[in-house]
Amino acid sequence: MSVTVRVPAKVNVQLAVGGARPDGFHDLANVFLAVGLYDEVTVTPADSLRVTCEGPDASKVPLDRTNLAARAAEALAARYGRRADVHLHIAKDIPVAGGMAGGSADGAGALLACDALWGTGASRDELLDICAELGSDVPFSLVGGAALGTGRGEKLRVLEVGGTFHWVFAVADGGLSTPAVYGECDRLREFDRLREGVEVPEPVASGALLRALAEGDAVALAAALSNDLQAAALSLRPSLASTLAAGSSAGALGALVSGSGPTTAFLVSDEESARKVADALVASGTCRAARVAAGPVPGAVVL
Ligand code: ATP
Repeated sequence: MSVTVRVPAKVNVQLAVGGARPDGFHDLANVFLAVGLYDEVTVTPADSLRVTCEGPDASKVPLDRTNLAARAAEALAARYGRRADVHLHIAKDIPVAGGMAGGSADGAGALLACDALWGTGASRDELLDICAELGSDVPFSLVGGAALGTGRGEKLRVLEVGGTFHWVFAVADGGLSTPAVYGECDRLREFDRLREGVEVPEPVASGALLRALAEGDAVALAAALSNDLQAAALSLRPSLASTLAAGSSAGALGALVSGSGPTTAFLVSDEESARKVADALVASGTCRAARVAAGPVPGAVVL
């Protein structure tokens, strides 16, 4: 017997980052949108915990206990006083280390799959608690749709969305480390503070952006897209500026770095425009691949 769970990637349509806290984390106002690029996590009973992975980026995924899917299985097993004796297989379609929360998706997927396989019957709140322990983006992978994350991004408020938004994602060669991008963001801000006395404001969700989501208005959403990590991602990977420019000149309504990057996200008006922008991005030679996806889509579901 086995259980398969499908989990979506996310794009941050707004990522407002506060100053570094004493614990090293940052307070965020993080508006997540789940989009239709998916990983599938299959759990099967086994003698001991084992992880395998297939897909174009499989070689970049750790197969030891650091894999978020393995950590999720162990966290649920520990809570219910049982052994995490499962084989976790990840069919990976979400770019790895791309700022699209692929690892978080696998963590949420493994948690839901093990809960179903073992019949633990954990409540939604319990599952969300475990997700928050695993990582800031993991609760949203479970919930999906659209949500505002505050705190480290793990306290979620579900947002209403009045339509479907079409996106193109330009996948870059190589990943960017999320901690390295936050570190660069802090460094650039310290420079601004010393030079111009600019203080980091409290992170708040943009009213215009929340309205655009609620009204399903792609043009208004494009105007409100923002990512406080973008300058840091561009500083570490200057070539991303050419990718952003290529998508914008091909007709995207708006463009931004997705989360900590290096994936870049382009909001477009419809599916046809998505194909056009994707083709132009590939032809520009400024990215490894271009993927088309729409959102919001539901979070982790048992298939
Ligand atoms: P986020 O958007 O949440 O910052 P990301 O999309 O940038 O994350 P991930 O694909 O989640 O990045 O991978 C980041 C790192 O996490 C990888 O380089 C890898 O070492 C590790 N990792 C742990 N578990 C997984 C997993 N199941 N899939 C992919 N990477 C994983």
